[in-house]
Parts: sequence; structure tokens; C-alpha cells
Amino acid sequence: MTNTAVETPVNTSAMKVSDEVAIEISNMNKWYGSFHVLRDINLTVNKGERIVIAGPSGSGKSTMIRCINRLEEHQSGKIIVDGTELTSDLKNIDKVRSEVGMCFQHFNLFPHLTILENCTLAPIWVRKTPKKEAIETAMYFLEKVKIPDQANKYPGQLSGGQQQRVAIARSLCMKPRIMLFDEPTSALDPEMIKEVLDTMIQLAEEGMTMLCVTHEMGFARQVANRVIFMDQGQIVEQNEPEEFFNNPRSERTKLFLSQIL
Ligand code: ADP
Ligand code: MG
Repeated sequence: MTNTAVETPVNTSAMKVSDEVAIEISNMNKWYGSFHVLRDINLTVNKGERIVIAGPSGSGKSTMIRCINRLEEHQSGKIIVDGTELTSDLKNIDKVRSEVGMCFQHFNLFPHLTILENCTLAPIWVRKTPKKEAIETAMYFLEKVKIPDQANKYPGQLSGGQQQRVAIARSLCMKPRIMLFDEPTSALDPEMIKEVLDTMIQLAEEGMTMLCVTHEMGFARQVANRVIFMDQGQIVEQNEPEEFFNNPRSERTKLFLSQIL
């Protein structure tokens, strides 16, 4: 586990949380076969929130994140994303996926496509965006993540940190309203972690609703408005970062924090 300090000043005053709900999860349960992986999850996320999800390995963090864009199916309870309930109706899934961007530990870029092609593929083929417009949008977001000069290279020619920033830019090209991050810096060398966190901070400052599974507790302290602690498939505790770190309530949270801080 790492605790990289986020040295960049964070403008939290720009990060406004709205009264409107972005994601509502109620009494949600999921099983893998007979294994009860998520137990009675209740979570309401308002627009503009930056939520960090922490917890030991195997506690269900990735599964929960993946249920929100239905890379995994839940079996009971409700998940409503931006007003659309996730059901087995494929029409809903397409709508939700187009509103929810996701960024993984392993960047999952297409190795045989250039950076620019990685960023324009889904807008052109899924969104039916005209090619010229898709390229302009891609260049806009590649500028934002500070690598427009890499546009015509292939993923293998970039560093890990650069590839992860491309992955973020690629998600942004679909104009998502919510971004899900699943340990986006865990596969990176320490010197590259900061550049990816800086990109995430910038997104937060622009008001993006974000759920981030991360072990970067410096990021959690500075950027999150809420930290959620999961263990054994349950949300055990949640609080604003200051309270969460200084005054954890449950023994499981205390034990977890004593191991990572
Ligand atoms: P975390 O992200 O917190 O490490 P995961 O959500 O990846 O946890 O996994 C939660 C639990 O579910 C773990 O015990 C894991 O082994 C199990 N699990 C994850 N994916 C699958 C799967 N596809 N099939 C069966 N079990 C799985
Ligand atoms: Mg995980």
C-alpha cells in the first residue's frame, strides 16, 4: 500500500456537491455462484461527489464498482444510475454505459491502435460521431491529460503513467457524467502515480462525479468528500476523510488503517 502525498494544491472549493442524485444503490446483493460477495449495499452518490472506496483485498470493491456499469450483474436490490435502473434490459445498459466512464488498474488500451485511434474508436462506432469531430474531441482530451504529442504513437511506446492518462482521456471522449476508477495507480511506478492523480484531481475540480477504489490515502484526504470502507462484502463505515482517518469507529476500520498508514 502506498500513501503518496498529493503535493499539488487542490482547489476543493471548486468541487461542489449537488443535491441531485447520480447513483442510488439500495439493498443490493450479489453472489458469485454460492459465494455472497456483496451484502445489502446501500449507497447514494450525489452529483459532484468524490468518493474513495477503501478496504482489504477481496472485500468486494471491484465487484461493487463493476456492478455500477453492469460489467457484473447484481441479483437483488436496486441500482439506479442517473435515473435509469440497471435491469437485464439491454437498452438501459447502453444508456448507462454511455454515461459512466471506467478506468482500470491495467489500462486496457488496444495495443494495435494508435493513441488517437484508441480515443476515437468508441465515439465513432458506438456514438456515431463524425470522424473529424471525434478526432477534435480526442485531441482536446489528450491535451487535457497533457500528452497531445503522443497521439500517433502506439500504447507500447508510452510509459505506464502516460498509458493510464490515455485511458482516462479515452473515457472522457465518451463525455461521461460519472467516472469509476478501480485502482488506477496500482500498476504504476511511484514516479508515475502523481501524474495520474493530478489528472484525477483536475477532473474532480471540474465537478466530475467520481468513485475511486484506491490505496492512495493522500488523495483520499485531499480530494474525497467521503471515504467508504468495505470489508467482507459490506460497507462497514463511511465518513468525511478527516473523521474517517482521525476517528474511525469500527474495529475493522481501525485495524485496516493501522496496517496501511
Ligand atoms: P476487491 O476488489 O475488494 O479486492 P473483488 O470485488 O475483486 O474484491 O472480489 C471480492 C471477492 O469475490 C473475492 O473473494 C474474489 O475472490 C471473489 N471474486 C471476484 N470475482 C469473481 C468471479 N468472477 N467469480 C468468483 N468469485 C469472484
Ligand atoms: Mg479490486
